[in-house]
Amino acid sequence: MLELSTARSSIVGNDLTVKRALPGKPRRMVGAWCFLDHAGPMDYAPDHGLTVGPHPHIGLQTFTWMIEGEVMHHDSLGNRQMIRPGQVNLMTAGRGISHAEVSPGGESGRIHAAQLWIALPDEERERDPAFQHCPDMPRIAQDGFDITVLVGSAFGQTAAPKVYTPLIGFDLESKAAARTTLALDPSFEHAVMPLEGSAIVGGQEVHDGELLYLGTGRDSIDIKTTAAGRLLLIGGTPFGKDVLLWWNFVGRTQEDMEIATEDWNAGRRFGTVPDTGLEPLKAPPLSGLHLRG
Ligand code: MN
Repeated sequence: MLELSTARSSIVGNDLTVKRALPGKPRRMVGAWCFLDHAGPMDYAPDHGLTVGPHPHIGLQTFTWMIEGEVMHHDSLGNRQMIRPGQVNLMTAGRGISHAEVSPGGESGRIHAAQLWIALPDEERERDPAFQHCPDMPRIAQDGFDITVLVGSAFGQTAAPKVYTPLIGFDLESKAAARTTLALDPSFEHAVMPLEGSAIVGGQEVHDGELLYLGTGRDSIDIKTTAAGRLLLIGGTPFGKDVLLWWNFVGRTQEDMEIATEDWNAGRRFGTVPDTGLEPLKAPPLSGLHLRG
């Protein structure tokens, strides 16, 4: 199976335009990966980088892969962590956390990053919130690609991010035309998204701004670039149930969303994010809540 879809444009924080590939049409999830934003690569003017004030999450892990630039993470557990190129930040919301993400202040800069959300399975949704900074990811050179293992195990190495369903993630960078075959777990479903340039994956051309879903049942995939490029590959055990996404929440029912929204608006459950100087984000009106899933 090869299913090509186009990411839509969205605005994150004050004014950063991203390409949102998940949830998409027709593909809403790939394993437990339920959200995929690609920011940049782009240069930004002073004060026009990423500025996302304090906001809450439930039921998910936010997974940030930094390729170029730097972003400061602040959360309600008291963590304050700059993420730099080649690093992953993994924040586990569980029953509730709040955080802010901010480009270094007052300067121009460059940003290239992917932020994904991982839906927590039912038995982990209410767990304690946590934050994990992963400064060193496994890197392998193969057939002209520099491959970073972002999550899961491959090439005899296991990436540090702690997740709660079987997942895999790779960043593949080629400096010139290259071709390789990547081993996959056939019980996983997989998808690829070029982060720079284009690629030919399983014989299908796929461009920056597109997501190519590969389905399950593949024990390998052929990946080819005709010039320098970069590709994100994600996969995991099919999640097996629909999840509801609304604003920054992943849940199962409309009631989950209503309670989380009321708790955030009342200043309960999500703690406070210290020292950002930014106004907390307001939840959109619940009247805009339409069940999806
Ligand atoms: Mn967030």
